[in-house]
Amino acid sequence: MTERVVNFSAGPGILPLSVLQQAQADLVSLPGVGASPLEVSHRGAWFTGVIEEAEDNLRRLLEVPGDHHVLFCQGGATMQFTMVPMNLLRDSSRRANYVITGAWGAKAAIEAEALAPTRVAWTGANESFVCVPEPDELAASIDADAQYVHVTTNETIHGVEYPDTPSLPSDVTLVADCSSDFLSRPIDVSRYGVLYAGAQKNAGPAGVTIAIVRNDVLERIPSGIPTMLDYRTYAEHGSLYNTPPVFSIYVLLLVTRWLRDEIGGLDAMHDRNRAKAALLYDVIDSIPDFYRGHAQVGSRSLMNVTFRLPTEELERGFVHAAAREGLVELQGHRSVGGIRASIYNSMPHEGVAQLAAFLRSFRSARGWTEPMPTLRSARRGRHRRRRSDGRR
Ligand code: PMP
Repeated sequence: MTERVVNFSAGPGILPLSVLQQAQADLVSLPGVGASPLEVSHRGAWFTGVIEEAEDNLRRLLEVPGDHHVLFCQGGATMQFTMVPMNLLRDSSRRANYVITGAWGAKAAIEAEALAPTRVAWTGANESFVCVPEPDELAASIDADAQYVHVTTNETIHGVEYPDTPSLPSDVTLVADCSSDFLSRPIDVSRYGVLYAGAQKNAGPAGVTIAIVRNDVLERIPSGIPTMLDYRTYAEHGSLYNTPPVFSIYVLLLVTRWLRDEIGGLDAMHDRNRAKAALLYDVIDSIPDFYRGHAQVGSRSLMNVTFRLPTEELERGFVHAAAREGLVELQGHRSVGGIRASIYNSMPHEGVAQLAAFLRSFRSARGWTEPMPTLRSARRGRHRRRRSDGRR
């Protein structure tokens, strides 16, 4: 087999090797079927079993309550940016509230604003998206009669993640884009009216988007929504109104089996993810004159570790030197620069340990020493350090 790199891609991201090997074994001819998963009917017995087990596994892993529907959509999380307001906001006299902790939440709000009255209730834009709101700040920013409140549980570009379910009164309909931390830890699904996630970070390949929609939300959807944008179409037809992304759902099934059988569920996954992220944040914090984490400590992502080096030139050098050691896709998103290590579920502990060792060796090899601070820059540095130590 061609050697595999250590892949820190933000998405589509790394998949478990055992999943890829199973998909490879099945690709030409599925046992008992005699055809490829790329060639079979979505209405046949094989795929019926696949989609039913995929839903069942997701329900068990996430402990999805009985009054929530698990839907398999297409169009990525970006189409959910439109489906959410179309289904939840149309004909509403009440506004949607968006809580913006990074670039993806901002994009979601733009789609809602185009369709119906929407308010940005809280945004971290002025501080370059370094944190999530404190619980009391969040509660105070929300309209008492908001139609729904939309959050992004993990901002993939900025590396900012809620440490827990955003705390809002239980009568608020909470909607969440969970694309980049889906299945990375247990969540209280009962708290969400809608949660959605593109599969291509933790759940499988691109092409399928999971939406988990509570029944009361579904029942309030007004009529007149285009068929493929209406959540009820998916709920009423078992996500088989038209041809679903068969291969993506099949690989998603393999990933859910891996989570269940090889990892042992989402608590175990969360433990692993915490340990992996700590490897990197510990190095970053131990060399503060060279590495500077982007997110404030209490909002740091376990999935996307974002940080800066002293200069952009050093950042470019870092990315190239890492790639030479087989550690790839470490450049930050083109809109923010810096370094981003995406360490999704399937990234093995050893891969992150290799990167942590590389951080130390790159720093030493440069022999980089902080320029003698002038009085003014020393004051600025002290201020910066204080802010990034605490949450706000
Ligand atoms: N939301 C988040 C948090 C994301 O990370 C991404 C993709 N990186 C999207 C939305 C957009 O997803 P898609 O490309 O599947 O539309």
